[in-house]
Amino acid sequence: MGRKAPKVILTDQCASIQRAIELYMPTTIHRWCIWHIMKKIPNKLNGYKGHIDIEQEMSHVVWNSYTKDAFHRNWNVFLTKYGLGGNKWLSKLYEDWHIWIPVYLDHHFWAGMRSTQRSESMHLFFNKFITRNSSLRQFVKQYDNCLASREQIEREFDVAYFYTVIPCATKSAIGAQFQHVYTHEKFMEVQAQFRGKVNCITRSMHSTLGFTTYEVIEQVFNSTFNKFFITYDAVSREVKCQCLLFESRGILCHHSISILSFDRVDNMTLKYILERWSKNIKRRHTHIKSSQDEPLLEPRSKRFDELVFQSHNICEFESESEELTRILHWEFDKVMAEMQEYKERSKGKSSLCHEKATLSDVNELQSPHVSKQEAGSRTDLDQTWKKRSQMP
Ligand SMILES: [Zn+2]
Repeated sequence: MGRKAPKVILTDQCASIQRAIELYMPTTIHRWCIWHIMKKIPNKLNGYKGHIDIEQEMSHVVWNSYTKDAFHRNWNVFLTKYGLGGNKWLSKLYEDWHIWIPVYLDHHFWAGMRSTQRSESMHLFFNKFITRNSSLRQFVKQYDNCLASREQIEREFDVAYFYTVIPCATKSAIGAQFQHVYTHEKFMEVQAQFRGKVNCITRSMHSTLGFTTYEVIEQVFNSTFNKFFITYDAVSREVKCQCLLFESRGILCHHSISILSFDRVDNMTLKYILERWSKNIKRRHTHIKSSQDEPLLEPRSKRFDELVFQSHNICEFESESEELTRILHWEFDKVMAEMQEYKERSKGKSSLCHEKATLSDVNELQSPHVSKQEAGSRTDLDQTWKKRSQMP
């Protein structure tokens, strides 16, 4: 991983992996796969009377607790209601709340991942090509076929979607901002949020110097309503919702869209249009040459090949000694910083659009930017929400 620990990591419940991560990647945010935990509920709790209600209520507590205080309160009410205080499995799970409960983790960017299903689907993909009995020779050949297959799918998507757009579900000018930039798949996710706005009732709670707090009541079922507090800063045009959908998945939530519509905002800041969801992004594997795509090599892939060839020679020379290796690492970091600065300067000259969206550093997990200062203001915001929710 280029000597860098990942920002976040998702695993199933495994104590030895947990210890290894704590020891060797202390700055990495570790999350347990919630799907694996929730899958265990029927097996662990089916001895209790009314276990179906228990399962539903536990699921409700886990998914619909939008503040940390609310989670602890709801969990204790849930245990008391069903007499589950002595259940060891639940007690152990509760001790580890910080590693699997969404409200504790969703302020970090997970690109939509809460479970390890992505790696499962990758296993499924590779299983089509490789079995545990494959020889090394077969593995090399099949790996080549894997690359060709992935690249072919990417090219087919490009042809099918690059020059087409799907109609907006609403008349919102903000919705149209996503339409030409995002992949069809991501745009449909955005559209779902725009449609979800119809279930929201918005009211302004408090406003000072362009900073407004809103309350959004969302009808979830016939007689079930959820309440969210959202803030909007008219100067920076930043919107923050308690549900943390943008922070965790990079998709603006229907509560935020509802207050933007309420405030008649028709031009959203580009911060909410993430480059990583752009249909123009070329995934890393498309730069890795397979034996079948020589005639199809694009200019960028050719440039990539040339750079890899050149850097390979440098690495071979520099790896001869520790001192040379250290110098090269230092130079790489310096060049990377200069390139990022150059990219930022170039960005200022052109806004993100269909033709110009690129991902120069495919290793970087582009996430909704949350600065330390913002994290601090979020704590203040939590306090504001807490005080406001206690008001009559
Ligand atoms: Zn929201």
